[in-house]
Amino acid sequence: MIRIAIANQKGGVGKTTTAINLATALAASGHRVLLIDSDPQGNASTGVGVERDARARSIYEVLLGDCDIAHAARPTRVPNLDLVPATQDLSAAELELAELPDRAHRLDQALDAAPDRWDVCLIDCPPSLGLLTINALVGANNLLIPLQCEFFALEGMSQLLRTVDLVRERFNRDLSILGVALTMYDRRNRLSEQVADDVRAVVGKLVFETPVPRNVRLSEAPSHGLPALIYDHRCPGSEAYIALAREVIERLPAMRIAA
Ligand code: ADP
Ligand code: MG
Repeated sequence: MIRIAIANQKGGVGKTTTAINLATALAASGHRVLLIDSDPQGNASTGVGVERDARARSIYEVLLGDCDIAHAARPTRVPNLDLVPATQDLSAAELELAELPDRAHRLDQALDAAPDRWDVCLIDCPPSLGLLTINALVGANNLLIPLQCEFFALEGMSQLLRTVDLVRERFNRDLSILGVALTMYDRRNRLSEQVADDVRAVVGKLVFETPVPRNVRLSEAPSHGLPALIYDHRCPGSEAYIALAREVIERLPAMRIAA
């Protein structure tokens, strides 16, 4: 199973929106996808229509060793897309994990033990570089970084890249950066264009060619418990995520075979 962490310690940059819609686009192209919600806010769970009362088994139990992935995963309304949900309990996990000797490897171990039921797993991270994000980076082999096209976009990038280096040195040599996805891009705004140029100057070809436009349909969809790709599959945001999924598949040879 290919494992992709979606991380950026900044909040509100489009991590969850990217996780939900990329997962849906990959599922629609025939991949069996597991979405793991690893943010105590549970926005990815809500966004694919899994209500709070359907979250009895969640990533919290998985991280603490009380449940395995196979039992925590549940189907969603999207064919080919399963979810391991998150609850607010997860906010306590940072502290509880800190007590454990293998605290950075809990998710990795759980994924190693998961059945061969999925081709790809996407992990939606919380807006911090704490143990939840570390677990995602240790458990993943790829990192996708959503970057919002605003003035402070690159601020925080160097800290994130230092964390990636640290994870590589200490825990997971296999972690590679899959790419940087520009989000909330506004063609009419010169700033967006300039930020995109700046980001390309710093991380070069890591930037995906498809920018995700600012599109109100993407922000409306979660309140209907639906990925934008299902809520309105022809809106510019959905089209961008379909194109982004194509780029992701291009960058991951193993996924081309799976498709
Ligand atoms: P994060 O998970 O990084 O905190 P979210 O994906 O939750 O970020 O996005 C933050 C807010 O911005 C949400 O309300 C979301 O609906 C909205 N949003 C995200 N991407 C877009 C976009 N491309 N266009 C419009 N709104 C967006
Ligand atoms: Mg989020």
